[in-house]
Formats: sequence, C-alpha cells, structure tokens
Amino acid sequence: MPAHLTIEHDFSLASLNTFRLPARARHYLRVIGAAQLDAVRADAALAALPRLVLGGGSNMLFTRDFDGIVLHMAGLGKEVLGNEDGRILVRAQAGENWHAFVQWTLAQGLGGLENLSLIPGTVGAAPIQNVGAYGTETKDVFHSLTAYDMATGTVATLDAAACRFGYRDSIFKHPEGSELVVLDVTFALPAGWQPNLRYAELARAVADSGLDAPTPLDVGRTVEAIRRRKLPDPAEIGNAGSFFKNPVVSSAACAQLLAHYPELVHHTQPDGSEKLAAGWLIDQCGWKGRALGAAGVYPKQALVLVNLGDARGEDVVRLARAIQADVAARYGVQLEPEPVFI
Ligand SMILES: Cc1cc2nc3c(=O)[nH]c(=O)nc-3n(C[C@H](O)[C@H](O)[C@H](O)COP(=O)(O)OP(=O)(O)OC[C@H]3O[C@@H](n4cnc5c(N)ncnc54)[C@H](O)[C@@H]3O)c2cc1C
Repeated sequence: MPAHLTIEHDFSLASLNTFRLPARARHYLRVIGAAQLDAVRADAALAALPRLVLGGGSNMLFTRDFDGIVLHMAGLGKEVLGNEDGRILVRAQAGENWHAFVQWTLAQGLGGLENLSLIPGTVGAAPIQNVGAYGTETKDVFHSLTAYDMATGTVATLDAAACRFGYRDSIFKHPEGSELVVLDVTFALPAGWQPNLRYAELARAVADSGLDAPTPLDVGRTVEAIRRRKLPDPAEIGNAGSFFKNPVVSSAACAQLLAHYPELVHHTQPDGSEKLAAGWLIDQCGWKGRALGAAGVYPKQALVLVNLGDARGEDVVRLARAIQADVAARYGVQLEPEPVFI
C-alpha cells in the first residue's frame, strides 16, 4: 500500500450508512481530492480492488462486508461563482453535506434548492440519482459537475445532457458512468426566483402559513416542517428514505388498474405515462407499521423501511422481498428498490 495514502483496514461502516446496518470495509480511504484518486490508480494492488464510492451512506443497503476499497468522499468547500445568463452559479465540493449546502444558499437569499431541503447525504451524490423532492429535481437547477474517471485518470466537466438525468437516474448508475467519481457540482440558481409550489401538499402548507410573498427561506422551512412530520430522522431510527421508486406504467395499464381500484393514487407524466404512488400500493397491502424481525415499515409512511434496532441487511432485504411479492400479486406491479444494495 502506498505510504502517502492513509488507508484504514477492516473499517466499520456502521456509522457511515443511515440504515445503521453492520458492515465492514476491507480498506477505507477518505478522499478530499483528485490527487488521492490518482494515487489509488497508480498502485497496482489498490487499482485491482473492487471500489465503492461513498458519500453520506443515506442511499445504501449493506447486506455484507465490502471486500474492496471504500472511497469516502470528504472534500469540502463552497462558493458563489457569479452570474451567467441571468442565473447565479454556485459550486460545492462533493463531500459537503447536502442540507447544509442548501441552507447556505438560502441564507444568502438564493432560491432554487429550497424544495430539496433536509435530504440527507452529500452534494456529490445528488446528481447520481438526480435527487428530487416536492416537485424539484437536481436536474432542474443543475449546471455542470467535475468528475474523475477511474478508468483513464482524467478529469472532465459534464453538463446536464452528458449526465443523462432521469427519474432517480443518471449516467452514473449505468456502465458508461460507473467509473466516474464526482468531485464537485455547480448549480445554476434563478436570479428572478419564483416559488415552485406545483406539489399540492407544499402549496397548501405555504398557504396555511399565511405568507403572501414567501421567500426561498420560507419555502425551505416549510419543506423541512413537512418532512420532519412525515419521515423518520436517521439519527434516531435507521432508514434510507423512500425504499422503493414510484413505478411508472403506461396509461393503458393505469386505466386497467383504475377499473379495479378507482382510488389508486397516480400522477400523469409529461410523456403520458403514469407514476403510481408506491407508498399507497404498500399501504393497501397492509404493510404500514408492520415488521418482519428487526426490520419494519414506518407507521407514518409506508414507503420507508426502518431498522427497528439491531437489523442486519438481510432482514431489510427479506422485508422488501415480502412487500414486492404482495404488491406484484395484488396489482401486477413490480416495485424497484431505490437504495444501492451491497
Ligand atoms: C430520511 C431520508 C430521506 C430521503 N429523502 C430523499 C428524497 O426526498 N429524495 C431523494 O432523491 N432521495 C432521498 N433520500 C436518499 C438519499 O438522501 C439521496 O439518495 C442522497 O443523494 C444520497 O447521498 P449520500 O451522500 O448519502 O450517497 P450514498 O448513499 O453514500 O451513495 C449513494 C450512491 O451514490 C454514489 N456516490 C456517492 N457519492 C458519489 C460521488 N461523489 N461520485 C460518484 N458516486 C457517488 C454511491 O456510490 C452510491 O451508488 C433520503 C434518504 C433518507 C435517509
């Protein structure tokens, strides 16, 4: 192992995943910049190891130890770059805490990220699954990012088109992007901000607060309040947020389901397809609040699976499979997990 890299061995990942599942990494490296990635590539033994890039571990499900090297993205720094085409560019390093970064922009009166308040994790991971909430996705405020290519040792700038963003998807989740490590992300925030209140629950909550002209900070605080009511705090109860993606089906398939289940919760997409509310499907199958061993379904939100204390990864997988089987049997819909399984 190269002496100039501080690599730790047999490293516990229990505090580095919000599910708080027990798992260990054979090797672990805190990465603050591209120089360390160069060094990993330059060392034949390290370069040959399986690699896992880790941010805040808030979208991970560890079912076993990781027999390779964990690259824990920890680079810090954020700055306002200036104006471009009527938008304000802000950049943050991959290891910055996402929510703290959002709050930093809001504290300066910069709007655009407020609907994404209180999402756990790091800035570098936000583009990976095109993090989204309350009617805003990363891609809506994205300018570009810098990525290190572990295959070639080069650093490249990727714009939104190159990132190929989709619903909880991007190039980084596909073979073409799997060697890319995000080093920093630049966001383009609107100079002439308007609140995005397309999401009905958020619009209602802002209206209820009695503010005629809510600021970005007001909207951010409202999002935080809604989330605190509905979602478990990973500091108190282990979880990875929504465990399943909302399944997208054709309008014909949705119509068939509606004929049997008129109260089915669905949202028509711009391309005419229908996004079904996975939480509703799970709830209807009677899973809300139920447990299988040490893994359970959060009583206030059926989409969230939780660690009830000393769960292991396989407990969560067993629960997830049981839910998938029930939803498939009743509705003919296959639920796809959102977290990354190791
Ligand atoms: C309570 C709770 C609520 C949540 N709410 C939402 C929500 O509203 N919307 C939403 O979209 N998600 C939500 N999530 C999921 C999670 O917060 C996001 O997916 C977040 O972006 C993950 O960030 P992370 O740094 O923890 O990534 P990790 O979990 O560490 O990693 C996730 C994936 O990204 C990769 N990755 C991480 N950093 C980098 C990097 N720098 N370069 C390349 N690859 C990288 C990892 O290899 C892995 O594949 C929630 C999670 C929790 C626990």
